[in-house]
Order: sequence, then structure tokens, then C-alpha cells
Amino acid sequence: MHRENGLVKTGGCMCGAVRYRAELTTREVLACHCEQCRRQSGNFWAAIHARGDLLEIDGGDAFVWRRFKQTERGFCRKCGSFILWRADGSPDVSIAAGSLDDASGLTLTAHIFLSEKPSYYKIEPGVECFSRDRGEGPIAPEA
Ligand SMILES: [Zn+2]
Ligand SMILES: [Zn+2]
Repeated sequence: MHRENGLVKTGGCMCGAVRYRAELTTREVLACHCEQCRRQSGNFWAAIHARGDLLEIDGGDAFVWRRFKQTERGFCRKCGSFILWRADGSPDVSIAAGSLDDASGLTLTAHIFLSEKPSYYKIEPGVECFSRDRGEGPIAPEA
């Protein structure tokens, strides 16, 4: 049974062939600046965590997971949208924040993997910054 609260969100790909329903574990959006997210998305990837066991994907043949190293990325075969990410062994799945139908109530609270950020853009102050993941303590925005 799903709890019907503010953290149940729906979303989908650009063309609409893939739809999902997810229960978020947080209201915090993360911006990941790592090389994988950069090459995958074109810049940093903004994502939010949801429970992997409650994720419902409706897309039939249009939806596909693709493996890379110890991770998988979920795509729409028809339009190419990159909407989901998960790491082997994690109970959570990361959802592309931009694929949510309604992102109200959510806030970008951290920039992660800034050690891999390219130099062509700056991070504005006001959001916590981390060299890698959030386990290591924050750093100054342009450190
Ligand atoms: Zn699509
Ligand atoms: Zn990343």
C-alpha cells in the first residue's frame, strides 16, 4: 500500500511513453557534477531520491535500463530521455528532478562531486557544496 502524502510524485519522459509513480524519501534535490552525470546529461544532473521498492514504471517496451559499471540508468527508448538512476545494492532510486510533473515543495539543497565539475560555470553561494558525496562534509563553493 502506498501512503498518499506529499511525497508521492508522478513523472515521465519527454514524449510521454514512459510514466512513473514514486515515493520520494526526501524533499531535497541534489545536483551531481560528476563526470558520468556530465557526459550522460550534458551538464550536471539534478536528481531526487525515491524508494526503489515502491517505484512503479509504466512504459512497456519503451522503458529500458542500461548498465554502466555498478549503476543502471533508465531511459525511454522512443525519445531518449534519461529519467532514472540506481546503484547496485542501494534501496533508493534517483529520479531526474526535471522529469517530475510537479516539483512543488522540493528544493535544491546540495551540489555534489564538485571535484569533477568543469570550469565553464560557477556555483552561486547559498547551497551546500561537496567535493564528492555528502559523507565528507561541505566545502566552500569554489574551493
Ligand atoms: Zn519518451
Ligand atoms: Zn553524478
